[in-house]
Amino acid sequence: MAIWNLGSINADYFYRVPHLPGPGETIAATDLTRGLGGKGANMSVAAARAAAHVAHIGAVGSDGAWAVERLTEYGVDTRRIQTVDTATGHAIITLDSRGENAIVLFPGANMNISQNAVGLALTEAEQGDILLMQNETSQQAFAAETGSKMGLRIAYAAAPFSTESVGAVLPFLDILILNKIEMAQLHLATGLMPSADMGVDTVIVTLGADGCALYDRSAGWVPQHFPAVPVTAVDTTGAGDTFTGYVLAALDRGMTMPDAIRLAAKAAALMVTRYGTADVIPDLKEVLDLG
Ligand code: ADP
Repeated sequence: MAIWNLGSINADYFYRVPHLPGPGETIAATDLTRGLGGKGANMSVAAARAAAHVAHIGAVGSDGAWAVERLTEYGVDTRRIQTVDTATGHAIITLDSRGENAIVLFPGANMNISQNAVGLALTEAEQGDILLMQNETSQQAFAAETGSKMGLRIAYAAAPFSTESVGAVLPFLDILILNKIEMAQLHLATGLMPSADMGVDTVIVTLGADGCALYDRSAGWVPQHFPAVPVTAVDTTGAGDTFTGYVLAALDRGMTMPDAIRLAAKAAALMVTRYGTADVIPDLKEVLDLG
């Protein structure tokens, strides 16, 4: 089987600065590093590292060839990534000496993925494959509806949260993954609760160091709690993306949901012990070596 991930691809530029610039101020950065980012790319890398076949559906600008190359190196099938006439999505992250940051995010090419490209990619998907999405690209609703009609399993990570975006895909979802803040936002906006029928067979609410809760139709929506693996966290960036990529990869390889969650919790725990994002997502061997 395969995972089709309609997802963002970003260049993350980290600038070290003595202090965050104020209005009208110019500051010389002392260091610049560029990394592969975007929730979509992170999840593709996580699922590929978890030994799934992952085809990424997305778009970069003419400045994004390196990002596509890096995804390919990480084992992601990049043949359905379009090159469009907009800059590759990127984040300009200024970091001061106290660890405080200020970020400018340009969605760029991620919002220029065409319906045609998504439709064409999905013609190659097979019934039972997983279609994964997050809220950082165009064409989410079209993909969800098309995939659902084709008998794909539709999974959605509701991040960054938007009531409108979740609302547009919710009728087509099989699996919804969101953290507790996103769940609270959804509840506030719509009154929906995972312990009642939200119209989605499986809802996973991640709880950071407290693990996650699984709400499943087959269990009558009675929550099942899975603890996190205790570790000393140094950087929680990408924990959720790693968790989601691993859960779906494990499901795609035929594991049960509880086993998939236990594996993903190990991968995410290892991830929070490392600095960085896509480039440091652990592979399956490292995760299994945890015991
Ligand atoms: P997000 O990154 O989307 O906000 P969470 O913070 O809820 O998501 O983390 C996702 C998963 O990562 C959790 O369910 C848990 O398994 C793991 N995780 C997150 N933080 C920690 C931590 N401090 N220690 C161990 N595991 C963690």
